[in-house]
Amino acid sequence: MLNKTPTDVLSPPADRTPFVELESVQVTYGKSFVALQPVDIAFSDDQITVLLGPSGAGKSTLLRALNYLVRPSSGTVTIRDIGPLKNSKAIRAHRRRTGMVFQQHQLIARLTALQNVLLSRVGNYSFLRSLLPLPQSEREWALECLDRVGLFDKALERCDALSGGQQQRVGIARAIAQRPHIVLADEPVASLDPASSIRVLTLLRDVCRQDGIPAIISLHQLEYARQFADRIVGLSHGSIVYDGPPAGLTEDVLTKIYGPSR
Ligand code: ADP
Ligand code: MG
Repeated sequence: MLNKTPTDVLSPPADRTPFVELESVQVTYGKSFVALQPVDIAFSDDQITVLLGPSGAGKSTLLRALNYLVRPSSGTVTIRDIGPLKNSKAIRAHRRRTGMVFQQHQLIARLTALQNVLLSRVGNYSFLRSLLPLPQSEREWALECLDRVGLFDKALERCDALSGGQQQRVGIARAIAQRPHIVLADEPVASLDPASSIRVLTLLRDVCRQDGIPAIISLHQLEYARQFADRIVGLSHGSIVYDGPPAGLTEDVLTKIYGPSR
């Protein structure tokens, strides 16, 4: 195109291909327990999706199918720029670019916040190289990530000396140190008090918005889902029973998600 306007040059059109797309993905545990009924769903950049549902609805299963921590028993997961996850090379490439945040943050208690963040970088080096100290640039990057979650001054504290909310923020720093293209968070505030929960969810949302990457967050608390989601995917007994904005969570929809005895 010859006649580009300055606006075209400054803001190229966003890539509208979904970042991740699931086609007929089903998950079965053991011989026959279907934890996720076949689903077709896609997740795009710059969108905070909350997977909402009661315990056992299939939130963690769907979330983990997105990077094959749980292997679908059938169907296809396709990642933009990588393609279908059908071999270990594709799965590894996708996992390297996926920031995971867990309920129990999975930090090593006796290591400092900085060491925990640096550990996430070790996987980017060969085994032999990873036995040596990481380059200074990695330390600087880890510190930048801790600064982004407001914990620069806690970098050298052991994780077991930090509060639950601070530990989860280290978990977020570790996830963003991966320079992720997507963030998956499984009940990231399940064990936090309300003030810390709001701080952690605000941080996750802001980081993903600033970096323009999709975040998929499983939650069982309706009020946080309403407050933080752009899109809500409601699950019940392994099926998606709602997919839409928070404003569409009517009493009828909530009964579909949580059942009549809510
Ligand atoms: P949620 O995250 O919404 O609580 P899960 O995805 O963890 O739900 O679980 C969905 C269903 O699958 C539940 O009935 C749960 O008991 C079952 N389930 C989860 N993980 C396993 C597993 N590894 N083996 C067998 N059943 C499982
Ligand atoms: Mg779960």
